[in-house]
Formats: sequence, structure tokens, C-alpha cells
Amino acid sequence: MVQAYHCSNKGEILSPYTYEKPALGPYDIFVKISHCGLCHSDIHLIDDDWKITKFPLVPGHEIIGTVEEKGPAVDFLKIGDRIGIGWQGKSCMACEWCLQGDENLCAKEEDTCVGHFGGFAKEIVADGRFAFVIPEALPSAETAPLLCGGATVFAPLIEHKIAPTMKVAVLGIGGLGHLAIQFVRALGCEVTAISHSADKENDAKKFGAHHFIHVKDSSSYAEWKNSFDFILSATSTGLDWVPVVEMLRPRGNLCLLGGLEINLELPIINLFIGRKLISCSNVASRPIQKKMLNFAALHNILPQIEEFPMGKVNEAIAKLRAGKIRYRAVLSNS
Ligand SMILES: [Zn+2]
Ligand SMILES: [Zn+2]
Repeated sequence: MVQAYHCSNKGEILSPYTYEKPALGPYDIFVKISHCGLCHSDIHLIDDDWKITKFPLVPGHEIIGTVEEKGPAVDFLKIGDRIGIGWQGKSCMACEWCLQGDENLCAKEEDTCVGHFGGFAKEIVADGRFAFVIPEALPSAETAPLLCGGATVFAPLIEHKIAPTMKVAVLGIGGLGHLAIQFVRALGCEVTAISHSADKENDAKKFGAHHFIHVKDSSSYAEWKNSFDFILSATSTGLDWVPVVEMLRPRGNLCLLGGLEINLELPIINLFIGRKLISCSNVASRPIQKKMLNFAALHNILPQIEEFPMGKVNEAIAKLRAGKIRYRAVLSNS
């Protein structure tokens, strides 16, 4: 039996749950979990905000653990390997997108904790092809949030070929934003952090931002018109997007990572002048996950975390709901 934390209805606090360990398929691995990050998406699943949740729900998709058993086709991992698992748990491995290394775009993709029991548990059975060996230099607890949060901010930087000569802004300095600043800085760009909280300035600069914009209201953006080649928006709240887009330079790109529930309203002329783009990014493909972990290890990029024992999962969730986690919560089984 696998011991986990679950909820059986939307919005419930989590409670202990045991379920029978599923039989391993040829590509499956059985993982002993040491750590699991708590991501905003877990809260969205608990609240069924996206209408995709399957109850009973065991959340958790920023998993670090060791391989305890493996199916006969898993010749690419060893028993005892320290691996990480992120949001995506499976794909068809045969369609056009899977074959070109874009498994995240597969129409048959499956998520680690949607219709499967996730990482708020002692163990998990997962598809070994979506497990990534963790570079030795990376510590387990801090690395957990890289599997979803880190991959989410790193993928668009690679996809949009962010170059060292570019001026990049990160909008929203929380769990995703504080990682984005570190990645963009390591890529060699001029980095500007944008936040509604003046008290995040010191942290943003510590993470690598050259400049900080404190947003008091929409007019705060005005003096930064025509300043950025790329704006990575990690905010999940509705904004007046006109002055945000006006901060883009010609051919600039506003890339949205969060706020899936929000409608985007913007006069087209704001994009027309300067041929500006609006894009979105979600999870990373398998090749990008691997590149992200190696890049983080090389450049010492790690989240600032608050660690909670797995048994205090509800305390961690309450603190995240209150917006008080600095900057990413991690549950540990030790
Ligand atoms: Zn996530
Ligand atoms: Zn596919």
C-alpha cells in the first residue's frame, strides 16, 4: 500500500489516504519520494479551477525520489538513481510532436497528478521516460521546485531564443518569478524585475535583477515604455495590459505563464505598431527539462524554499493560499 495525502472533494483540506500500489508496466518505475514541491497548480487542482481534477486527488508534481523498482523496458535508469518528476507524466511517444521532442504538445499527454496519484505521498509509480536523473550538484529539497516551476520559466527562454544582448523583464516576483530572474541573469541578459510589492526589491536584486520597478498603478509602467525585448509574466492576476505591452521594444514578446482564468483584452493596434507578439508557455518538453537541470546545476540556480514535513501539508497549503511563502514550499518525507 502507498501512503499519501488526498482530498475527495473540491476545496477540502488534505487527509491521509492509502491506496494499493499499481502494478508496474514495462516503462514504469516505483519511486521512494524524498521531497515534493507545492505548486500553485496543486491549489488549482484542489479547487478544481480548471475542471480537469479527478477525485480522489493526491496532488504533487515536483517530485524528487529514488528508483526502487523498474519495469523490464527501463534500461535507461538504475535502481537507486535520484530522479525528478514534473507536471507531465506520460505521452503517446508516437505522434508527430512526441517524435520531434515536443512531448508537451502531445494530444494524448497525461499529467502526473490528474487521473494518477501524485507526489504528496511516500511513494509513486510513474513512467520512467518522464523521470530525469538529478545532477549530483543539485540538493534534493531545493531541486524539487525546478521540476515544474523551474521548467516553466526556462522553457520559453529557450523556445524564444533569448540572447545575452536582450533586455528582459520578469513581471511578478513569486515562486516562478524569482527563478526566472536567476535563469535570465545566467543567460547574460539585462534583467528588470517588476512587482507590486516594494519590499521585494532587495530579494529581486539578490536573485540577479539589475533594475526593479515598483508598480503602484498603471502609470508606473509609463517611464519604461519601449524598454524590453521580452517580458515574462509570472503574475496570475488581471492587469491593464496596454501599458505592459507599451514597455516592449519593436518585435518584443510578452510571454504569459499564469492567469489561465483571465481574459486578455487589448487593442490590436498595440501589437500592430512595432510588430509585437503575445505568447504563452506551459510545461517543458523532456529535452528542455534535461537542459534546465544541467543549466541550473552549472549556474547554481535554486529556489529559495520553505520546507515542511509531509504531515504539515495543510499548513503549507494555507501559507501558499495566503501568499506568504518565500518563495516556494517543499514537503519532505524525512
Ligand atoms: Zn506546477
Ligand atoms: Zn504524442
